[in-house]
Amino acid sequence: MTSFLANEQALEDWLRRQAERHEVYWPQRMGKASYAFQRLRRRSPLRLDRLDDAPASKPFRASACVVPPGRLLAPMQELLYRFEPDDDGGYRFIPCLDPTERLIAGIRPCDLKAIHLMDAVNAEGVPDAHYLTRRAHTTLIASNCLQPCDAHCFCEAAGSLDWREGADVFLTPQADGQQLVECLTPRGEALCADAGFSPCDAPEERRQSAEAHRPQPFGRQFDAPLVKVMAAVDETWDSPVWDKHVERCFSCGTCNLVCPTCYCFDMRDDLDIEHPGCGSRSRCADGCMLPEFAEVAGGHNFRATPAARQRHRVKRKLAYLPTQFADGSFCVGCGRCGHQCTVDIDIFDIANDLAAASEAPHAADD
Ligand code: SF4
Ligand code: SF4
Repeated sequence: MTSFLANEQALEDWLRRQAERHEVYWPQRMGKASYAFQRLRRRSPLRLDRLDDAPASKPFRASACVVPPGRLLAPMQELLYRFEPDDDGGYRFIPCLDPTERLIAGIRPCDLKAIHLMDAVNAEGVPDAHYLTRRAHTTLIASNCLQPCDAHCFCEAAGSLDWREGADVFLTPQADGQQLVECLTPRGEALCADAGFSPCDAPEERRQSAEAHRPQPFGRQFDAPLVKVMAAVDETWDSPVWDKHVERCFSCGTCNLVCPTCYCFDMRDDLDIEHPGCGSRSRCADGCMLPEFAEVAGGHNFRATPAARQRHRVKRKLAYLPTQFADGSFCVGCGRCGHQCTVDIDIFDIANDLAAASEAPHAADD
């Protein structure tokens, strides 16, 4: 695949030219400390990473970007289809698919891995036409991380720091102030073909030399290797750790809604009373930390306590889904849930405590 070098201005001009042709999304600062992937407009600020950025001056951060970029592919709320009576006494279903050409740029490696995982989830079983239609029309430009986003980040520990799969173009800042532009797919090649960037013959060396500037360790690290942490989560059912980490939880569901690998939704049908028999079906994001999520007919709730819900959430990320898809941890270590939880409940601490508890000698062994 082809690689280029581009100075900051050339790359910015190129992204702004793309925005004249398609919807281009770029992480933009909202208020003092948050970011949101928003349409790049003529006057939108656009600041790329630099190799000598201090941690505090990193231009955009995954965990502070409340809504992950993958939500542009699976919106919190969406119309799925309309229905109306047909001439044979049945119903006609009119799907509402979104084939808008989009380019999402500034995706951090953790969020890139999350999109890769959601690609697998949405292609499995009955493929999700709504997600897959958006995905087929979306180009991804990822930005390498040479500094952790903040104190919540644990992407290296979760195995997503070096993730590149799924990116059409991958950017890495260079010591000479340029950006290494690696085209990783034919779509990325086509996008860069007329950009006027300079060819680069040694992209691997260039990227590795930039990555040598990463601090060691990079972000928070578990006290045990990831495989042991995942095994501990998998093997633990009854444990005081689940209760310890929900004492302050008020079951708001924020940790679900901000997570780039949470994808549960609820469905709703709306009838159009002015046109009998016509209506629409839509869905909206749901979350397993919400008390009514597991409530079934008759009022029975099979995850009635916050600890049971927390156990389910953590096991989904670190045990159930990794077993089903064999793609490593479904927690990509973005740090959003810990950062955005009002009472500082953090999946990193829960997983670490479970690993420590599984290493501790059992009373029965004494
Ligand atoms: S964000 Fe925090 S308080 Fe809200 S449900 Fe999740 S763990 Fe509980
Ligand atoms: S569980 Fe938390 S840290 Fe892990 S991917 Fe989801 S939001 Fe990020």
